[in-house]
Amino acid sequence: MSGAQAARAYLEAAETEAARGGGDAAPAAVGHVAVVGAGTMGGGLAMALANAGLRVTLIDKAEEGLNRGLATIRKTYEGQAARGRITTEQAGERAALIQGTTGLAGAAGADAVIEAVFENLALKREIFSELDRTMRPGALLATNTSGLDVDAIAAATARPAEVVGMHFFSPANIMRLVEVVRGRETSGATIATTFALALRMGKVPVLVGNAPGFVGNRMMRRRGEQAERLLLEGATPEEVDAALRRFGFAMGPFAMLDMAGLDVGLRSRRERGAIAVVDDALNASGRLGQKTGAGYYRYREGDRTPLPDPAVLDLVREAATRLGVPQRTIPEEEILDRLLLPMVNEAARILETGMAERAGDVDVVWANGYGFPRDRGGPMYHADTIGAAEVVHRLSAYAGATGDATLRPAPLLERLAAEGRCFVDRGSAGRAVAGAEGRNAA
Ligand code: NAD
Repeated sequence: MSGAQAARAYLEAAETEAARGGGDAAPAAVGHVAVVGAGTMGGGLAMALANAGLRVTLIDKAEEGLNRGLATIRKTYEGQAARGRITTEQAGERAALIQGTTGLAGAAGADAVIEAVFENLALKREIFSELDRTMRPGALLATNTSGLDVDAIAAATARPAEVVGMHFFSPANIMRLVEVVRGRETSGATIATTFALALRMGKVPVLVGNAPGFVGNRMMRRRGEQAERLLLEGATPEEVDAALRRFGFAMGPFAMLDMAGLDVGLRSRRERGAIAVVDDALNASGRLGQKTGAGYYRYREGDRTPLPDPAVLDLVREAATRLGVPQRTIPEEEILDRLLLPMVNEAARILETGMAERAGDVDVVWANGYGFPRDRGGPMYHADTIGAAEVVHRLSAYAGATGDATLRPAPLLERLAAEGRCFVDRGSAGRAVAGAEGRNAA
């Protein structure tokens, strides 16, 4: 078996293992799901549910939002039929499974609800409090929040045991990952029902803890911090992106930021009180990415090809001088290490605190939600390929050279290095270092 084949086989086994995260409790039957919020995620979720043959009630607060959502769904199905991906009958059947309405009373008869309104805690709490009054006892109450505290949402109801996070990814009818967020009081039966629903939707569910950023976004933030830091130290956006592309990602971090819109990241940083000198400056100068024709790259009218922009290098150089960061030429191996190893380090912290159950789960998250090349297994599998001792050595060296304390190796990583162990046991179907085991051994 080639290295790439072995990595793929490992991932498949890790996915099977992750799918067992639902536990042994009997899942409740779900045939009808209400989706609250008919925006980007709500529309995608309605389709994902209908594609699995489930009846959907799609709810928005006003006719306008609802009609826009339903129109997008119709157009998407028509497009899929026109391209021969589904038959015209299938398009009709699926669309017919989705009924729209305004007002949460529409959720009353459903077995489960997935909330996908704006990312605002007060609003979500208000909705859950009303859903608590509306839904029948035993119904599943899920939030698609990408980062809010699931316990704070659950506390707005009198049934926190039935509240869970289902963190889907956009587009929700295509992307397979679901981080199933277990709140403090979420019951085993609720987790089992959530996993059964996710699997029925053809998704890849992974159980995660309720900590900021859950697993994927929390690791992604470390990568983002280092990407920005690499610019200040002298790398160009093209060099950083090319390093990840050559590793096997379809896209590098800066091209991705330009595609998503720099204002999205800024909003999330503001909520967390975080700053990113370069990204903040680009935002301030109106360079929001593709939609404004310029971000980390520049774009020709009607063309999404990222073109290098000397203005960005000037802006970065100015910031580096102001901050006293010396600029240099950075070799590609270092760029790659600085992007990937801090994610591994953060995952070690995640495992230590039991916020993910197994290192294999982390790889499943990254392969299915963040485009980690399957031929490379995942970040933890990749770390094992390098070896824990070498990862510790490199992280320590980078921490020393940059003075960045976040790069210091996590205790679990140090322990694996000292004991000559791996995150992932390649011989046993994706079983890997477990969060609890990591904690006990600490
Ligand atoms: P969006 O702005 O596209 O859609 C939100 C919808 O909620 C709008 O149609 C709005 O009218 C509706 N809404 C607002 N208040 C409402 C109420 N009181 N009752 C009913 N409907 C109401 O947002 P989105 O991008 O779909 O995100 C929705 C949620 O999903 C957020 O929590 C977000 O963090 C999360 N999420 C988004 C993504 C993504 O990539 N867009 C990915 C994962 C998770």
